[in-house]
Amino acid sequence: MSSTTFYEYVGNLHAHTPYSDGEGTHEQIGHAALMAGIDFVVVTDHNVWVRGVEGYYGDDKRGYALLLSGEEVHDQCLDPQVNHFLVYGAEQELAQCAANPQGLIDAVNAAGGLGFIAHPTDAALDRFNEPAIPWEAWHVERFTGMEIWNYMSGFKSLVKSFRGALHAAFRPEEVVIGPDPQALALWDKLLMEGRRVVGIGNADAHATTFRMGPIRHIVFPYDFLFNCVNTHILVTQPLTGNVERDKLAIYKALGQGSAFVGYDIPGDTRGFRFSANGQYGSTTMGGSIRLGPGVTLQALAPARSHIKIINQGKVVAEAIERENLTYTAQVPGAYRVEVWQKYHGRERAWILSNPIYVEDATYTLR
Ligand SMILES: [Zn+2]
Ligand SMILES: [Zn+2]
Repeated sequence: MSSTTFYEYVGNLHAHTPYSDGEGTHEQIGHAALMAGIDFVVVTDHNVWVRGVEGYYGDDKRGYALLLSGEEVHDQCLDPQVNHFLVYGAEQELAQCAANPQGLIDAVNAAGGLGFIAHPTDAALDRFNEPAIPWEAWHVERFTGMEIWNYMSGFKSLVKSFRGALHAAFRPEEVVIGPDPQALALWDKLLMEGRRVVGIGNADAHATTFRMGPIRHIVFPYDFLFNCVNTHILVTQPLTGNVERDKLAIYKALGQGSAFVGYDIPGDTRGFRFSANGQYGSTTMGGSIRLGPGVTLQALAPARSHIKIINQGKVVAEAIERENLTYTAQVPGAYRVEVWQKYHGRERAWILSNPIYVEDATYTLR
């Protein structure tokens, strides 16, 4: 197996401040990240890229969390306002490109940024007159990836009644099972087409203003949400404390898909690894490898759990109550791992890896 040592950092890539529809300031979000014990957070206000707020927040006693500034772009002329797109590292305002999703993606790429489809399968919350705001512009290409798990968007689909909303708001750990299966199915479909699509998981934190009708004032502070669904990146050099250098390292890992999504409520997800080894070398999440006579895939979970290796949307290997799973791939495709963990009486999605692309003449990345 690959002997590379990775440094793992936990981040949340989707949060709002009063620059759009969030309630907490950048300062408060930086400190919430610190309270939650995550390493970085990217603030993504709607249609505004905010300058001058990036930096390490905290102090020598409590430690530091890196706050970066991205943007969530969408066309405000649409009704409902579908097609939200998360932009990282473009270092410029891109809201003016919102009306043309492919033009926006091309502008992000030209600026050296990364672009992710946000809450692709968002559902309506009819009880509270909240429209669905999924991604609809599926003709687009060349985007970096998509949110495979948006915690707050997933929440909307769980709430069917006022009573249900109250239960969900006060006992989220009981109602949240995993990401929307439709989002994973869409991801698998894109991967089968030979596209590189990096999966990320986010909170979409707004502090108290998550729009859920009458209960909007009482739930989901940032520090709680930064403990739920996060994206873990794996880098080969430790972060340095220098904002510009660390920003580049984080975005590079994200762009490569050297990352996995962890839901930390059932248990700490740090330490998960997924690697591949074959006649033509070795690689890890986000990487590609030639199939040759076969490629050995290995998943390592941080605790005993239900581990599944998935190719073409189907489980090709699984292990129950185990900390590792090894499988020899004989056919090409994008292989990804799901780890499920028992919590509050049932299995819940715990870890979702990015794929390893096993290529041959019949399956090559576009
Ligand atoms: Zn959004
Ligand atoms: Zn958002």
